[in-house]
Amino acid sequence: MSYNPFESAQAQFDKVAEMMNLEPDARALLREPMKEYHFSIPVKMDDGSTKVFKGYRVNHNYARGPAKGGIRFHPHETADTVRALSTWMTWKCAVADLPLGGGKGGVVCDPRTMSLGEQERMCRGYIRQGFAAFGALVDVPAPDVMSNPQHMLWMLDEYETLARAHYPGAITGKPVGAGGSLGRTEATGYGGIYVLKDLMDAEGIKFEDTRASIQGFGNVGEYAARLYTEYGGKVITISTYDLGDKTSYTFRKKDGCNIEELVSIKDKFGTIDKAKAKDLGYEILPGDVWIAEDVEILIPAALESQITPATFPQISKNVKIICELANGPTTPDCDPLIQEKGIMVLPDFLANAGGVTVSYFEQVQGNMNYFWSREEAIEKLHYSMSKAFKGVYELSKEKNLYMRDAAYIIAIDKVYKAVKQRGWC
Ligand code: GLU
Repeated sequence: MSYNPFESAQAQFDKVAEMMNLEPDARALLREPMKEYHFSIPVKMDDGSTKVFKGYRVNHNYARGPAKGGIRFHPHETADTVRALSTWMTWKCAVADLPLGGGKGGVVCDPRTMSLGEQERMCRGYIRQGFAAFGALVDVPAPDVMSNPQHMLWMLDEYETLARAHYPGAITGKPVGAGGSLGRTEATGYGGIYVLKDLMDAEGIKFEDTRASIQGFGNVGEYAARLYTEYGGKVITISTYDLGDKTSYTFRKKDGCNIEELVSIKDKFGTIDKAKAKDLGYEILPGDVWIAEDVEILIPAALESQITPATFPQISKNVKIICELANGPTTPDCDPLIQEKGIMVLPDFLANAGGVTVSYFEQVQGNMNYFWSREEAIEKLHYSMSKAFKGVYELSKEKNLYMRDAAYIIAIDKVYKAVKQRGWC
């Protein structure tokens, strides 16, 4: 069965809107994106040919502030994945209490197969075609799957050239020293492990007594693995995509992966060198077995629609917590199965809100033109994530709710109040 992520995002919203008894006008407004741009980006390739890439930018809702969210580069990007991702950004910014709305962009491409020059021309082309959509007070892009700080700086440079001034708040996730914030790189992974720690503390679970299996070893998976291990947990398996073989593999070490060692043999897209991993004593298994590992914590940190009724039966009976660091890794038809088994879920738009939180800090610092130390950025991130977690956890306990539903109630209520106050419904 294949899933349409936008239908999943709408199903999640509809379920909670019903629980909240939300008025029909507000439902109609909040279940659809408010603005959407589609553009064609002609790019001169190194061989002299011109390739036309398809680009999207969607603003789901901007009642609480400028739309905010990453730009994803992926060969399977569709308008509906971008619509879903922009919707989740609205709820993410609201649950984290950032004065921002939800947006997302995408380009149908595979940067892993493009030269740096081709990538630069594609980034600049994206901004040239989408210029009318963007602005520090309108809609602010950032990195996402397969896009990085260098891509953001090329985009900002193109934007500022067209706008004829410096606008540091127009794009976040820039390199440190070029307007970026210290702590942004590790923010999503760290933020997820901060809320995992809060949940484990609240439930009396010790890191030393847990093992984890992680899907994805890009920026998010890497920093999550690092902090989880630092806190005393053992990562048993990491599954990641292999660019050469165009397939995924799971790397396993039963007595615990050495994260620094694996980082030293991976490339910037997360492909781990199999020969070197083998020499270091890792088992190399099919990509999808990460989900079946006998662990207490599952951390999906790759793409959407991974935990479904079809894959759920493989999950070990020892799993206590699913910490969703990807966007939309669990399909709505799987939530009842997870609930039935009593597995706790740290929902994606809470657990992975660390990235956009430090993006917001980057805007604040850029506006002041005064940059914080890494410690200050990380401390503020930790405070903000724990505050968001506390709100969700307390509501879930008080009303005996699944944590995803509790997070949705908090987020939808905030956005609902903003649209209502503005007179949009
Ligand atoms: N792409 C990240 C996300 O999905 C970060 C967005 C941002 O920093 O604006 O949350």
